[in-house]
Amino acid sequence: MMKLFGLFKQELAIDLGTANTLIIQDGEVVVDEPSIVASNRRTDETIAVGRKAMQMHEKTHEEIKTIRPLKDGVIADFKAAENMIEGMIRMIGRKRRFFTHLKMVICIPSGITEVEKRAVFDSADHVDSKETYLIYEPMAAALGIGLDVEEPVGNMIIDIGGGTTEIAVIALSGIVTDQSIRTAGDELTNDIMGYMKRQHNILIGERTAEQIKIHVGAALPELEHPPEDFAVNGRDLMTGIPKQITVSYQEIAGALDESITAIEEAVLRALEATPPELASDIYRTGLYLTGGGALLRGLDKRIASKTKLPVHIADDPLRAVVRGTSAALADTDRYMPILIPRGSV
Ligand code: ADP
Ligand code: MG
Repeated sequence: MMKLFGLFKQELAIDLGTANTLIIQDGEVVVDEPSIVASNRRTDETIAVGRKAMQMHEKTHEEIKTIRPLKDGVIADFKAAENMIEGMIRMIGRKRRFFTHLKMVICIPSGITEVEKRAVFDSADHVDSKETYLIYEPMAAALGIGLDVEEPVGNMIIDIGGGTTEIAVIALSGIVTDQSIRTAGDELTNDIMGYMKRQHNILIGERTAEQIKIHVGAALPELEHPPEDFAVNGRDLMTGIPKQITVSYQEIAGALDESITAIEEAVLRALEATPPELASDIYRTGLYLTGGGALLRGLDKRIASKTKLPVHIADDPLRAVVRGTSAALADTDRYMPILIPRGSV
Protein backbone atom coordinates (compact mmCIF):
# COMPACT_ATOMS: atom_id res chain seq x y z
CA MET A 1 0.00 0.00 0.00
CA MET A 2 2.77 2.41 0.94
CA LYS A 3 4.40 1.67 -2.37
CA LEU A 4 1.22 2.49 -4.23
CA PHE A 5 1.03 5.86 -2.55
CA GLY A 6 4.65 6.44 -3.44
CA LEU A 7 3.86 5.85 -7.08
CA PHE A 8 1.18 8.48 -7.09
CA LYS A 9 3.17 11.25 -5.56
CA GLN A 10 4.13 14.46 -7.31
CA GLU A 11 6.38 16.92 -5.53
CA LEU A 12 7.18 20.37 -6.87
CA ALA A 13 9.51 23.08 -5.60
CA ILE A 14 8.59 26.46 -7.08
CA ASP A 15 10.56 29.71 -7.10
CA LEU A 16 8.06 32.42 -7.90
CA GLY A 17 10.40 35.24 -8.89
CA THR A 18 9.66 38.71 -10.24
CA ALA A 19 11.72 37.96 -13.32
CA ASN A 20 11.81 34.15 -13.54
CA THR A 21 9.76 31.23 -12.30
CA LEU A 22 11.54 27.92 -11.80
CA ILE A 23 10.18 24.52 -10.85
CA ILE A 24 12.11 21.47 -9.69
CA GLN A 25 10.49 18.04 -9.84
CA ASP A 26 12.39 14.96 -8.64
CA GLY A 27 15.57 16.98 -8.27
CA GLU A 28 15.47 18.25 -11.83
CA VAL A 29 14.67 21.74 -13.13
CA VAL A 30 11.59 21.17 -15.29
CA VAL A 31 10.50 24.80 -15.69
CA ASP A 32 12.74 27.84 -16.10
CA GLU A 33 10.68 30.57 -17.68
CA PRO A 34 10.25 34.33 -17.45
CA SER A 35 7.40 35.32 -15.08
CA ILE A 36 5.02 36.69 -17.64
CA VAL A 37 1.53 35.99 -18.93
CA ALA A 38 -0.08 36.95 -22.23
CA SER A 39 -3.85 37.17 -22.22
CA ASN A 40 -6.75 38.25 -24.36
CA ARG A 41 -7.57 41.84 -23.50
CA ARG A 42 -11.31 41.33 -23.90
CA THR A 43 -11.94 37.88 -22.47
CA ASP A 44 -8.97 37.78 -20.08
CA GLU A 45 -8.26 34.28 -21.31
CA THR A 46 -4.64 33.18 -20.91
CA ILE A 47 -2.94 32.81 -24.28
CA ALA A 48 0.59 31.96 -23.22
CA VAL A 49 2.88 31.94 -20.20
CA GLY A 50 6.64 32.15 -19.83
CA ARG A 51 8.95 32.38 -22.83
CA LYS A 52 6.09 32.29 -25.34
CA ALA A 53 4.40 35.21 -23.61
CA MET A 54 7.73 37.05 -23.42
CA GLN A 55 8.06 36.87 -27.20
CA MET A 56 4.80 38.80 -27.43
CA HIS A 57 5.94 41.39 -24.86
CA GLU A 58 6.25 44.92 -26.26
CA LYS A 59 4.83 43.64 -29.55
CA THR A 60 1.21 43.40 -28.49
CA HIS A 61 -1.89 44.88 -30.14
CA GLU A 62 -5.47 45.66 -29.02
CA GLU A 63 -6.32 42.00 -28.67
CA ILE A 64 -3.37 40.82 -26.58
CA LYS A 65 -1.74 42.17 -23.44
CA THR A 66 1.23 40.89 -21.50
CA ILE A 67 1.48 41.10 -17.73
CA ARG A 68 4.30 40.46 -15.33
CA PRO A 69 2.21 39.41 -12.31
CA LEU A 70 4.95 40.15 -9.79
CA LYS A 71 6.40 43.58 -9.36
CA ASP A 72 8.97 44.83 -6.90
CA GLY A 73 8.92 41.49 -5.12
CA VAL A 74 5.18 41.44 -4.47
CA ILE A 75 2.21 40.08 -6.38
CA ALA A 76 0.85 43.02 -8.34
CA ASP A 77 -1.86 41.07 -10.16
CA PHE A 78 -3.39 38.14 -8.28
CA LYS A 79 -5.39 36.71 -11.15
CA ALA A 80 -2.44 36.84 -13.52
CA ALA A 81 -0.18 35.25 -10.90
CA GLU A 82 -2.64 32.44 -10.47
CA ASN A 83 -2.91 31.90 -14.22
CA MET A 84 0.84 31.90 -14.49
CA ILE A 85 1.37 29.30 -11.76
CA GLU A 86 -1.31 27.10 -13.31
CA GLY A 87 0.12 27.50 -16.79
CA MET A 88 3.63 26.60 -15.67
CA ILE A 89 2.45 23.54 -13.77
CA ARG A 90 0.50 22.49 -16.83
CA MET A 91 3.78 22.67 -18.79
CA ILE A 92 5.24 19.79 -16.80
CA GLY A 93 1.96 17.95 -16.77
CA ARG A 94 0.00 17.07 -13.74
CA LYS A 95 0.40 13.38 -13.05
CA ARG A 96 -2.90 11.45 -12.99
CA ARG A 97 -5.12 13.66 -10.94
CA PHE A 98 -6.97 11.10 -8.88
CA PHE A 99 -5.08 9.35 -6.12
CA THR A 100 -2.08 11.57 -6.73
CA HIS A 101 -0.81 13.41 -3.72
CA LEU A 102 0.54 16.73 -4.95
CA LYS A 103 2.92 18.38 -2.53
CA MET A 104 4.47 21.78 -3.16
CA VAL A 105 6.89 24.19 -1.54
CA ILE A 106 6.66 27.67 -3.03
CA CYS A 107 9.26 30.31 -2.44
CA ILE A 108 7.96 33.83 -1.79
CA PRO A 109 9.60 37.23 -1.33
CA SER A 110 9.93 38.07 2.36
CA GLY A 111 8.07 41.37 1.90
CA ILE A 112 4.84 39.60 0.96
CA THR A 113 1.67 40.38 2.97
CA GLU A 114 -0.69 37.87 4.62
CA VAL A 115 -3.25 38.47 1.88
CA GLU A 116 -0.66 37.72 -0.77
CA LYS A 117 0.42 34.56 1.05
CA ARG A 118 -3.18 33.42 1.01
CA ALA A 119 -3.37 34.15 -2.72
CA VAL A 120 -0.35 31.91 -3.31
CA PHE A 121 -1.96 29.13 -1.26
CA ASP A 122 -5.16 29.59 -3.26
CA SER A 123 -3.26 29.18 -6.52
CA ALA A 124 -1.81 25.97 -5.14
CA ASP A 125 -5.36 24.79 -4.33
CA HIS A 126 -6.36 25.54 -7.90
CA VAL A 127 -3.94 22.92 -9.16
CA ASP A 128 -5.19 20.51 -6.50
CA SER A 129 -2.17 20.61 -4.25
CA LYS A 130 -2.87 18.49 -1.18
CA GLU A 131 0.02 19.74 0.89
CA THR A 132 1.48 23.22 0.38
CA TYR A 133 4.16 25.15 2.22
CA LEU A 134 5.71 28.52 1.60
CA ILE A 135 9.32 29.42 2.26
CA TYR A 136 10.95 32.84 2.39
CA GLU A 137 13.35 33.65 -0.39
CA PRO A 138 16.53 34.44 1.58
CA MET A 139 16.08 31.22 3.55
CA ALA A 140 15.69 29.21 0.36
CA ALA A 141 18.69 30.97 -1.15
CA ALA A 142 20.82 30.09 1.88
CA LEU A 143 19.75 26.45 1.72
CA GLY A 144 20.40 26.43 -2.02
CA ILE A 145 23.94 27.69 -1.52
CA GLY A 146 24.47 24.84 0.91
CA LEU A 147 24.75 26.94 4.08
CA ASP A 148 23.70 25.32 7.32
CA VAL A 149 20.74 27.52 8.24
CA GLU A 150 20.02 25.68 11.49
CA GLU A 151 23.40 26.52 13.04
CA PRO A 152 23.79 29.36 15.54
CA VAL A 153 26.06 31.04 12.99
CA GLY A 154 25.13 34.15 11.04
CA ASN A 155 25.27 34.23 7.26
CA MET A 156 24.47 37.17 5.04
CA ILE A 157 22.69 36.58 1.74
CA ILE A 158 22.34 39.26 -0.92
CA ASP A 159 19.77 38.19 -3.49
CA ILE A 160 19.59 40.49 -6.49
CA GLY A 161 16.53 39.52 -8.51
CA GLY A 162 14.42 41.36 -11.04
CA GLY A 163 12.38 43.61 -8.78
CA THR A 164 14.18 43.67 -5.46
CA THR A 165 17.51 43.23 -3.81
CA GLU A 166 17.01 41.40 -0.55
CA ILE A 167 19.71 41.42 2.04
CA ALA A 168 19.16 39.07 4.93
CA VAL A 169 21.08 37.65 7.84
CA ILE A 170 20.11 34.10 8.70
CA ALA A 171 20.87 32.10 11.83
CA LEU A 172 19.15 29.36 13.83
CA SER A 173 16.52 28.72 11.13
CA GLY A 174 15.36 32.32 11.27
CA ILE A 175 15.74 35.58 9.39
CA VAL A 176 17.47 37.92 11.84
CA THR A 177 17.61 41.07 9.76
CA ASP A 178 16.13 41.79 6.39
CA GLN A 179 16.51 44.77 4.09
CA SER A 180 14.74 45.03 0.81
CA ILE A 181 15.27 47.72 -1.79
CA ARG A 182 13.67 48.17 -5.16
CA THR A 183 16.95 48.58 -6.95
CA ALA A 184 17.63 45.32 -8.77
CA GLY A 185 17.72 43.87 -12.28
CA ASP A 186 14.73 45.79 -13.69
CA GLU A 187 16.14 49.07 -12.43
CA LEU A 188 19.51 48.34 -14.05
CA THR A 189 17.71 47.62 -17.31
CA ASN A 190 15.88 50.96 -17.00
CA ASP A 191 19.18 52.72 -16.37
CA ILE A 192 20.48 51.32 -19.65
CA MET A 193 17.38 52.42 -21.59
CA GLY A 194 17.73 55.93 -20.13
CA TYR A 195 21.42 56.07 -20.90
CA MET A 196 20.96 55.00 -24.53
CA LYS A 197 18.36 57.68 -25.00
CA ARG A 198 20.38 60.44 -23.36
CA GLN A 199 23.79 59.54 -24.68
CA HIS A 200 23.13 57.97 -28.06
CA ASN A 201 19.73 59.39 -28.96
CA ILE A 202 18.27 56.01 -29.56
CA LEU A 203 15.17 54.33 -28.23
CA ILE A 204 15.53 50.70 -27.25
CA GLY A 205 13.07 48.29 -25.64
CA GLU A 206 13.33 46.42 -22.37
CA ARG A 207 14.57 43.24 -23.99
CA THR A 208 17.36 44.95 -25.90
CA ALA A 209 18.44 46.77 -22.74
CA GLU A 210 18.53 43.45 -20.92
CA GLN A 211 20.72 42.01 -23.69
CA ILE A 212 23.12 44.92 -23.26
CA LYS A 213 23.19 44.27 -19.51
CA ILE A 214 24.00 40.62 -20.03
CA HIS A 215 26.60 41.15 -22.76
CA VAL A 216 28.40 44.26 -21.52
CA GLY A 217 26.92 44.97 -18.09
CA ALA A 218 29.52 45.84 -15.46
CA ALA A 219 29.77 47.22 -11.96
CA LEU A 220 33.34 48.45 -12.44
CA PRO A 221 34.85 50.58 -15.22
CA GLU A 222 37.93 48.38 -15.28
CA LEU A 223 37.62 44.64 -15.54
CA GLU A 224 40.25 41.94 -15.64
CA HIS A 225 38.36 40.02 -18.31
CA PRO A 226 36.53 42.68 -20.29
CA PRO A 227 33.71 41.64 -22.65
CA GLU A 228 33.77 42.72 -26.27
CA ASP A 229 31.74 45.75 -27.34
CA PHE A 230 28.14 45.01 -28.20
CA ALA A 231 26.18 46.15 -31.26
CA VAL A 232 22.69 47.46 -30.58
CA ASN A 233 19.81 48.25 -32.91
CA GLY A 234 17.39 50.95 -31.91
CA ARG A 235 15.35 53.78 -33.32
CA ASP A 236 17.04 57.12 -33.82
CA LEU A 237 15.15 59.79 -31.89
CA MET A 238 15.96 62.49 -34.45
CA THR A 239 15.34 60.74 -37.75
CA GLY A 240 12.94 58.05 -36.54
CA ILE A 241 14.77 55.40 -38.51
CA PRO A 242 16.50 52.31 -37.15
CA LYS A 243 20.18 52.70 -36.42
CA GLN A 244 22.97 50.56 -35.05
CA ILE A 245 25.52 51.65 -32.48
CA THR A 246 28.20 49.87 -30.47
CA VAL A 247 28.44 50.04 -26.69
CA SER A 248 31.32 49.23 -24.37
CA TYR A 249 31.22 47.85 -20.85
CA GLN A 250 32.87 51.04 -19.54
CA GLU A 251 29.91 53.08 -20.70
CA ILE A 252 27.47 50.68 -19.08
CA ALA A 253 29.44 50.64 -15.84
CA GLY A 254 28.95 54.41 -15.78
CA ALA A 255 25.23 54.10 -16.53
CA LEU A 256 24.74 51.59 -13.72
CA ASP A 257 26.93 53.31 -11.15
CA GLU A 258 24.18 55.10 -9.25
CA SER A 259 22.04 52.00 -8.85
CA ILE A 260 25.01 49.87 -7.80
CA THR A 261 25.81 52.51 -5.19
CA ALA A 262 22.25 52.15 -3.86
CA ILE A 263 22.78 48.38 -3.53
CA GLU A 264 26.12 48.93 -1.77
CA GLU A 265 24.51 51.34 0.67
CA ALA A 266 21.78 48.85 1.49
CA VAL A 267 24.43 46.23 2.20
CA LEU A 268 26.18 48.64 4.56
CA ARG A 269 22.90 49.41 6.33
CA ALA A 270 22.19 45.69 6.71
CA LEU A 271 25.64 45.18 8.22
CA GLU A 272 25.01 48.03 10.66
CA ALA A 273 21.69 46.47 11.67
CA THR A 274 23.26 43.07 12.36
CA PRO A 275 23.68 42.13 16.04
CA PRO A 276 27.39 42.16 16.95
CA GLU A 277 27.77 38.41 17.60
CA LEU A 278 26.36 37.61 14.19
CA ALA A 279 28.34 40.41 12.58
CA SER A 280 31.53 38.79 13.81
CA ASP A 281 30.46 35.55 12.09
CA ILE A 282 29.87 37.45 8.88
CA TYR A 283 33.29 39.08 9.05
CA ARG A 284 34.66 35.55 8.99
CA THR A 285 32.31 33.93 6.46
CA GLY A 286 31.70 36.88 4.16
CA LEU A 287 28.74 37.75 1.98
CA TYR A 288 26.92 35.48 -0.46
CA LEU A 289 25.52 36.84 -3.72
CA THR A 290 22.59 35.08 -5.39
CA GLY A 291 19.95 35.91 -8.01
CA GLY A 292 20.59 36.98 -11.60
CA GLY A 293 22.18 40.25 -10.47
CA ALA A 294 25.05 38.28 -8.93
CA LEU A 295 26.23 37.67 -12.51
CA LEU A 296 26.91 41.35 -13.17
CA ARG A 297 30.61 41.62 -13.99
CA GLY A 298 32.75 43.01 -11.19
CA LEU A 299 29.90 43.32 -8.68
CA ASP A 300 31.52 40.90 -6.22
CA LYS A 301 34.77 42.85 -6.38
CA ARG A 302 33.03 46.17 -5.95
CA ILE A 303 31.06 45.05 -2.88
CA ALA A 304 34.16 43.39 -1.43
CA SER A 305 36.18 46.56 -1.68
CA LYS A 306 33.35 48.68 -0.26
CA THR A 307 32.69 46.40 2.74
CA LYS A 308 36.21 45.00 3.16
CA LEU A 309 34.57 41.57 3.43
CA PRO A 310 34.98 38.45 1.33
CA VAL A 311 32.17 38.14 -1.26
CA HIS A 312 31.16 34.80 -2.74
CA ILE A 313 29.02 34.32 -5.84
CA ALA A 314 26.72 31.31 -5.50
CA ASP A 315 27.14 28.54 -8.07
CA ASP A 316 24.49 29.01 -10.72
CA PRO A 317 23.03 32.02 -8.84
CA LEU A 318 19.79 32.09 -10.88
CA ARG A 319 18.91 28.66 -9.50
CA ALA A 320 20.09 28.89 -5.89
CA VAL A 321 16.61 29.76 -4.61
CA VAL A 322 14.81 26.94 -6.38
CA ARG A 323 17.51 24.46 -5.33
CA GLY A 324 17.01 25.52 -1.72
CA THR A 325 13.24 25.29 -2.09
CA SER A 326 13.72 21.77 -3.41
CA ALA A 327 15.99 20.89 -0.48
CA ALA A 328 13.26 22.00 1.92
CA LEU A 329 10.67 19.99 -0.02
CA ALA A 330 12.82 16.87 0.20
CA ASP A 331 12.79 17.00 3.99
CA THR A 332 9.76 18.96 5.17
CA ASP A 333 9.89 17.38 8.62
CA ARG A 334 13.39 18.63 9.28
CA TYR A 335 12.75 22.04 7.78
CA MET A 336 9.32 22.62 9.35
CA PRO A 337 10.71 25.53 11.45
CA ILE A 338 11.44 27.49 8.27
CA LEU A 339 8.31 26.50 6.33
CA ILE A 340 4.99 28.33 6.39
CA PRO A 341 2.08 25.86 6.40
CA ARG A 342 -1.41 26.52 5.06
CA GLY A 343 -3.05 26.97 8.44
CA SER A 344 -0.80 29.81 9.57
CA VAL A 345 -2.09 32.56 7.29
P1 ADP B 1 13.77 36.95 -9.67
O1 ADP B 1 14.13 36.02 -8.57
O2 ADP B 1 13.30 38.28 -9.20
O3 ADP B 1 12.87 36.34 -10.67
P2 ADP B 1 16.32 36.33 -10.89
O4 ADP B 1 17.16 35.90 -9.75
O5 ADP B 1 15.78 35.27 -11.78
O6 ADP B 1 15.14 37.28 -10.42
O7 ADP B 1 17.20 37.36 -11.72
C1 ADP B 1 16.68 38.01 -12.82
C2 ADP B 1 17.44 39.27 -13.07
O8 ADP B 1 18.82 38.96 -13.26
C3 ADP B 1 16.95 39.98 -14.31
O9 ADP B 1 16.81 41.35 -14.04
C4 ADP B 1 18.07 39.71 -15.30
O10 ADP B 1 18.20 40.77 -16.23
C5 ADP B 1 19.28 39.65 -14.41
N1 ADP B 1 20.40 38.93 -15.01
C6 ADP B 1 20.40 37.68 -15.56
N2 ADP B 1 21.60 37.37 -16.05
C7 ADP B 1 22.39 38.45 -15.82
C8 ADP B 1 23.76 38.76 -16.12
N3 ADP B 1 24.56 37.90 -16.74
N4 ADP B 1 24.23 39.96 -15.73
C9 ADP B 1 23.44 40.84 -15.10
N5 ADP B 1 22.16 40.63 -14.80
C10 ADP B 1 21.63 39.43 -15.15
MG1 MG C 1 14.53 35.29 -6.90
